[in-house]
This record gives sequence, structure tokens and C-alpha cells, in this order.
Amino acid sequence: MAPILGKPEDPLMNNYAEEESTLNSSCPSGTFKANQGDEACTHCPINSRTTSEGATNCVCRNGYYRADLDPLDMPCTTIPSAPQSVISSVNETSLMLEWTPPRDSGGREDLVYNIICKSCGSGRGACTRCGDNVQYAPRQLGLTEPRIYISDLLAHTQYTFEIQAVNGVTDQSPFSPQFASVNITTNQAAPSAVSIMHQVSRTVDSITLSWSQPDQPNGVILDYELQYYEKELSEYNATAIKSPTNTVTVQGLKAGAIYVFQVRARTVAGYGRYSGKMYFQTMTEAEYQTSIQEKLPLIVGSSAAGLVFLIAVVVIAIVCNRRRGFERADSEYTDKLQHYTSGHMTPGMKIYIDPFTYEDPNEAVREFAKEIDISCVKIEQVIGAGEFGEVCSGHLKLPGKREIFVAIKTLKSGYTEKQRRDFLSEASIMGQFDHPNVIHLEGVVTKSTPVMIITEFMENGSLDSFLRQNDGQFTVIQLVGMLRGIAAGMKYLADMNYVHRDLAARNILVNSNLVCKVSDFGLSRFLEDDTSDPTYTSALGGKIPIRWTAPEAIQYRKFTSASDVWSYGIVMWEVMSYGERPYWDMTNQDVINAIEQDYRLPPPMDCPSALHQLMLDCWQKDRNHRPKFGQIVNTLDKMIRNPNSLKAMAPLSSGINLPLLDRTIPDYTSFNTVDEWLEAIKMGQYKESFANAGFTSFDVVSQMMME
Ligand code: AMP
Repeated sequence: MAPILGKPEDPLMNNYAEEESTLNSSCPSGTFKANQGDEACTHCPINSRTTSEGATNCVCRNGYYRADLDPLDMPCTTIPSAPQSVISSVNETSLMLEWTPPRDSGGREDLVYNIICKSCGSGRGACTRCGDNVQYAPRQLGLTEPRIYISDLLAHTQYTFEIQAVNGVTDQSPFSPQFASVNITTNQAAPSAVSIMHQVSRTVDSITLSWSQPDQPNGVILDYELQYYEKELSEYNATAIKSPTNTVTVQGLKAGAIYVFQVRARTVAGYGRYSGKMYFQTMTEAEYQTSIQEKLPLIVGSSAAGLVFLIAVVVIAIVCNRRRGFERADSEYTDKLQHYTSGHMTPGMKIYIDPFTYEDPNEAVREFAKEIDISCVKIEQVIGAGEFGEVCSGHLKLPGKREIFVAIKTLKSGYTEKQRRDFLSEASIMGQFDHPNVIHLEGVVTKSTPVMIITEFMENGSLDSFLRQNDGQFTVIQLVGMLRGIAAGMKYLADMNYVHRDLAARNILVNSNLVCKVSDFGLSRFLEDDTSDPTYTSALGGKIPIRWTAPEAIQYRKFTSASDVWSYGIVMWEVMSYGERPYWDMTNQDVINAIEQDYRLPPPMDCPSALHQLMLDCWQKDRNHRPKFGQIVNTLDKMIRNPNSLKAMAPLSSGINLPLLDRTIPDYTSFNTVDEWLEAIKMGQYKESFANAGFTSFDVVSQMMME
């Protein structure tokens, strides 16, 4: 119940409408008589008084009220005090709250409770009211019993619940109801159920189905399990098949039979609930024959058209090649297009188009980003500083769509035309991408000021600051899940042929489900980076985040997906060390020299050796030896499926500021004995001293190294 607004100025005066009447002159002060007549005067009920003789009612004292239906001889009452001793028990993403009634019910018996839910997922101290999807049992408002069951919360999210005590006079008080509050954090949870499945195609013996991701994946979906059985048979005969994607072709089915299908998603937290049962039927032989006959002219027609098209392409190619011999000066744009359509790309695969290849970059914005009317945007809070202006959170309500939470990047006033172009180029780039691990662009506002870019909102903000705020709070599997998301996003971008000079500087953001998404090439993360190095910063005509960048990219601007893999290795190191600065306080020049001399970052504290090995692979000097993003995703998937592979900790992983690892010196884990290792590092003369000092096993040696 909201506090009453717009009351007269003095909140302590109340019951104005019941201003005592002085018509009845027979009653002395402190008593009243509601009706004219012979009956006796009544004493004012508790907490009320008269101010003169002959009153027909008594007014309530300050802070006490009378509800509309309270009789005049009933005591005036007040609002209840706060509920007490709240006990919360969290189970995955649901919660039971129990409390004891307020010490003071305000003198009334119509006490009820209201629950206010606030989600504080961003970790920045800003809490927002929970959305409509949270479920309350028995209900959210007007609870008569001191307990409630709340479900469908988001996983790994902080919430604050306020339990308000209200009664029949709460509305009359100018103050908000008293409440008790409790902070909780939800846990890991299995994904929610898939809501709908579609039939993509079918034959006499197969059905291809696809479905959308569950509304609340609560983590990275590892795979789906589809269960099916013939409708005529019992559920006990169901067959289950797994699919790594949200589409599957079920084969070996009977012609013309109806099958019952159910699907469920799996994350590291286990399987979610099965979807509801959905029925699909295979084709009968007769249907199949008709469909073939219907398709026949189409097949013949398309083959003929395909042939004509091929011949035309060959002829054009020959003519163009000849003309090329005479004309040399092709525009950069054509070069780019040839680059995009050449070589290794699989036909039909979408590739990225650089907005700067457009003569008018505004054209690219119009093509790739939707224009949003400013009236649909509600800016609420500043959440960060971008390269071009403030980044805010707010809401976007497009006509016919649900209101959503969004991030709004603004272009600060006084911008130059070039700044406007550069700012909006980010939207033309983001607008071409469509992947669960790449920030989704909602649109742009360019027809009014300030110019804005609107993207999906990532509740937990930047990955690096999020990790620093939650140092040591996640399991290795959760960290690997985050790394997998980043690698999957990077793989998508690499497949789209998106390689940018600033790619290493890409921002990575985290949403409330701990899903990481890669963003544009915003440099904000590196703005404070050390620029005292003229050789490698200004000579390249722009800032380069040295400690994230591959040596070939620093030395001769060779920016490729392989240099992104190097940067990814550094991000892995940042994630496993909860946001530690790579190479600590070494200067950029020292970092460059160290890398050149084959030194690499050591394993962060408690980092599984398999993960440190993957980092070292990403930091191979020869870029052709580095893994591809697809391989990184597969490697991380295997680790998630087999968590035992993450049990082995990297040696020396319990120190903090360890020296850089010299890759030219063989790692002692590759030797069976301490003696062998000493020989390999040309310290054989110390074998005896080691043995005498008791350094006979690697465990003891590692202790010594740390000290
Ligand atoms: P950027 O200009 O992309 O580097 O963004 C600057 C800062 O704004 C980031 O470091 C984040 O803290 C915040 N930010 C940017 N985009 C988002 C988003 N989509 N959701 C939440 N916070 C964001």
C-alpha cells in the first residue's frame, strides 16, 4: 500500500472530515454523544479526545486513526510496527520467507503483509523492482499468514525482500508502512522448461524439430535431451536422444504414425524440467508420393535456373578478368567485397561488412540498425563512462512489445562529425551480429539529441569489475562456463570474418545469469592504460592495449583471429585470477620484452592446470600454432562435461605475485624425479644439496620456490 500523498501540510493532524461538532452542548469535555437525545454522554474511546464541550464525536490523537468503517466508540488505532525475526531459506531460485508478527499491531486485528521484491543483480548497489515473472504463493499482497513462498527468481542474483506490515489505517497514515527486510542471493539452478517445439520438416520415417531456448537458461546450455515415443505405445518405451543444438532430426520412425515429443535442456546445474508433450506425425506413403510429385517441377525448374546462373557467372567472371588486365585502379570497396566473397568462406555463411567501406557511413547505420523513436526510451541511471559519453540504464518500450531493460550509450554534446560517425559505426557493426554471446543491438536514436545506441542490458556490467567485486565467489565450473561463452561469441565473430584492429580491447559484459557476452570494440576498459611508451602506442596512430595484444599485432599490426586468440588467453587469465591486472604493475615495455624472451603469465591462484595449458597454447609465439576459437570452445566443453579434468591444479598455483613463467626452461611437471629436472635445467651440480636438504619431491620443491 502506497503512502498517502497530497494530504494537508501537517501530517500529524488527522481525521479532518470528522472535525468534532459543538452542537451538543450537554456533553462535558472528554465525552461525546453522537445523536441528539436523552442518552448519556460517552467517554472518548482510547487515543481520542475532544477540544471543547458538547462534542458529537472524538478526534483521534496525533498518530492515531479511524478506518472508514470503525464505529465512533471504537478506540483510535495506529499502523503496525515492523514484522520481526525473518527467516529465509533459499532453494536454488526459490525462497521461503517466514517471520513473526509485529510487536505492536497498532491496536487492530486486520493486520496483513505485503511483499516488495527488489533485484540487486547488478552488484552496483542499485536495486530495481522485480519483474512480473516472479511467482508468489499464496500471493504477494494482503498475506494473512506470516509466510510466503517465492519462486522463479533468477539464478545467482541478489534480492532484497521487504515485508511490510499493514492494517486498516495504514492508508490514513502519511508515513510508509513499517517493514522488515532480508537480503538473499539465489543459487545455481537448472534451466527452465522449453516452452515450444516446432516441426521443421518431416518424411515418412523422420521428423526434424527445433525449439527455442528456455526462458531462464540459468547458465550455459550444454545440450538438450529429446524424449519421444509412439503415441499408441506407453511412455515406458520412450527413446531419448541428445542434441548439442536446439534442433534435431529423429530418424527410423514409422510412416504415418503420431509420436509424442518432450525436450529438456541441461546446464552444469543438471537437467531442467521436460517441456509439455507435443505431438508430431510422420508422412504416410501416400503423402510422400504427392509431395514428390508436387516438388518435381520445382526441382527441375531450380536445377535449370541454377545451371543458367552458373553459366552467367562464368561468362561474367571471364569478361571481368579480361577488363581487369586493362583497368587497374579498383576502389577499396570492391577490394573489400572481393575479400569478403573469396576463399575459405562457406557459401551462405554470413560475413561482416565494414561500415567504413560505405561511401556514406550513415547508410550503413540505416541498413544495420533500427531507428528508435526517443519517446520509446526511458533513461534511468548513469552506469558507466564510454569512450564517447555516458552509458545509462533504462527501459525501452517498443509498440506492441514488452518493456525491456536496456543499456543506452549516449554521444556527448559538442561532438565532431567524425566522432558521430565513429560512435554510430559501433551500431552498424553490432547490428550485423546475432549470437547469444554477442551483445544484442536494439537500435539507435539519431533523429534527436543526444544520439544514442541502445543494447540489451547486462545486469552484472563489465566482466573485469564484476570479477573483482566477487573475488573467489565462483566455482571453477562457473568460471569455465563464463570462458566458454566468451569463446563462443569470439568464434561467431571470427566466423563472420570480423577482425578489427581494436579487437583485443573488446568489452565483455555479464548478465544476471552469469552469461558473458562480447561487446563492441569500446576502449573504455583501457583508457587509463599506461601511455608512456611512444614506440608502441603513438607510432601506431592509436592506443593499443599492449598487455592484451599478440606480439605480431604490436610489432607489425597483424590483427587476425589468431591475435584475438592471444587476447582471449589473457582474458582467461584475468577470469581465473578474478580480475587481476595482467603482468601486474610491469610497464608496457617490460611486458613486450618479457614476451619476446618467451616469458608467459604463470597460473593464477587455484587455476586448474588444464586451463593454464590452454592459456599457454593461446600465447604460442607462432600464431599458426595457437588453437582456433572453435577448438577452444570444444576444449572448454569437454572440461565442463568432465569436471574431473579440472581437479589437477597447476603447480605453484597457490602463490600470488609469482614471477613470469620462462617457457624456455622445461616445466618440472614433465619430469619424474627432482634429479632429472635439475639435470634438464643445468643445475645437476646441486642434486646432492637438494637431496641433503630434503627436497626430494616436487611438492617440497614447489614450497621452496614460493618462499
Ligand atoms: P563501453 O563504451 O562499451 O566500453 O562501456 C562503458 C561501460 O558501460 C562498461 O564498462 C560497462 O560498465 C557499461 N556498459 C556498457 N554496455 C553495457 C550493457 N549493455 N549493459 C550494462 N552495462 C554496460
